[in-house]
Amino acid sequence: MKDTTRICKICFNKIYTNNIHSLLYNEPICSKCLKELNPVFKKFKIEDVEALAIFEYNEVLKKLIYQFKGCLDYELKDVFIAYFNNELKEKYKNYYILPIPSFKEKDLKRGFNQVEEMFSSLKLPVLKDVLMKKKDDNQHLKSYVERTKVKDNFLVTNKEILRNKKILICDDICTTGSSLKAAVDLIKPYVNKDLKIVVIAKREFSKDELEKIKDKRFVLS
Ligand SMILES: [Zn+2]
Repeated sequence: MKDTTRICKICFNKIYTNNIHSLLYNEPICSKCLKELNPVFKKFKIEDVEALAIFEYNEVLKKLIYQFKGCLDYELKDVFIAYFNNELKEKYKNYYILPIPSFKEKDLKRGFNQVEEMFSSLKLPVLKDVLMKKKDDNQHLKSYVERTKVKDNFLVTNKEILRNKKILICDDICTTGSSLKAAVDLIKPYVNKDLKIVVIAKREFSKDELEKIKDKRFVLS
């Protein structure tokens, strides 16, 4: 019999194939790590476009995303959605992925585009460089108010390619929703078929935080 022992890509412990799901699918993380990541499959809307967040943004996920895109731990690319690969493949069958862009030079320096890689296990065609960023703007150093101006920094390079396709806008974290909203505003006039959004995680704000972020100077940590 072939050895089917697998190691969790997050905690490096052995993955026990003691349930149907783990027997059927080759998920890259153990059930304990999955539980810590806390998948919520939360539905929300950007304008009138249906959006789905797989996880709620928490410390575990924050650390993991930092390890992946900040420390270039490329092996982690599959840990975010692979556990739900089959479900998501079914849900987004025949869609084309349109990643929320990062600045091209940054992708080149990093060697990969993190959003494309995080969703790569879906094996969907990717509309590369159709939505681009004009200049490097460090969103995370900006205040909530400044973040909402992101639209001016996005550019649609090929409008025609969006025609007659089902488009799935993908991003890693939805913080204020500004990038997603900007993308929807820019491409919607050219999408004549279905348009949907999926993100790895959505950040939720407490009442207190919501009050604070109205302040022009408040920078999200
Ligand atoms: Zn684990």
